[in-house]
Amino acid sequence: ALTGKTAVITGSNSGIGLGIARSFAAAGLNVVLNSYTDRKEDHALAEELAKAHGVDVRYIKADLAKGDEARNLIEEAGACDILVNNAGIQHVAGIDEFPTAKWDAIIAINLSSAFHTTAAALPMMRKAGWGRVINIASAHGLRASPYKSAYVAAKHGIVGMTKVVALETAQEPITANAICPGYVLTPLVEEQIPDTMKKYDMDRETAIKEVLLDRQPSKEFATTDQLGGTALFLCSDHAAQITGTTISVDGGWTAM
Ligand code: NAD
Repeated sequence: ALTGKTAVITGSNSGIGLGIARSFAAAGLNVVLNSYTDRKEDHALAEELAKAHGVDVRYIKADLAKGDEARNLIEEAGACDILVNNAGIQHVAGIDEFPTAKWDAIIAINLSSAFHTTAAALPMMRKAGWGRVINIASAHGLRASPYKSAYVAAKHGIVGMTKVVALETAQEPITANAICPGYVLTPLVEEQIPDTMKKYDMDRETAIKEVLLDRQPSKEFATTDQLGGTALFLCSDHAAQITGTTISVDGGWTAM
């Protein structure tokens, strides 16, 4: 039933966003990829996905730090049956030293962009008579860690906004939910492994289990493919009454 529907996935030229895009394209969805760059590789990625799965895939550049560009992304997409708010950045510093520009950027990209895209997409979903809003929050939308004030604030914020969108659409065939991943093996996390090995003088496996996955009881990373499958489930008819809630994909992190 998803064939022919269009999904807009923010921040989808790498990592979790790209994993969700791959799962969606494989399920027959048309996909709009996005990031703030406009490189040959970005458009090549769209072509590759389209060819592999025989669906329509476009790459649209939009800097989601800017509200008008976030709204424009949805307008340019022209259709948005499924909106995945995934774009996000991180900065780690004590609150008394946290650069104001970083705070503003994290709140803008990780939280406010979802307000703008959702505002632009809801009228399209209502017109189409069906819709799914999927916000990629984090275990940090439910739990805190030191030195991540802006990230934790933005992720708790997006969990809250998800509930409001769910209530405002409760009697319509539209749902809004947040997926809360624990640690996922994306290029970003992969890059931290050699430094962690060096810093703690550990082999790869020990560095992963004892440092990176310190708070993830399963001692396994979640994968971008598992997140794609979770997002796809939220798009299915089986999930039609799941709204205003969070799904953790965190190997037990938030059970503690
Ligand atoms: P990533 O860096 O691979 O992906 C982030 C994406 O956002 C990229 O495509 C990037 O280009 C895009 N982006 C960044 N700034 C942007 C901007 N101004 N405008 C448009 N796009 C922008 O990282 P990821 O791990 O795949 O993260 C994706 C989401 O998942 C984020 O919201 C992150 O907070 C969340 N998350 C990640 C993990 C993890 O362990 N990797 C865990 C929990 C939650």
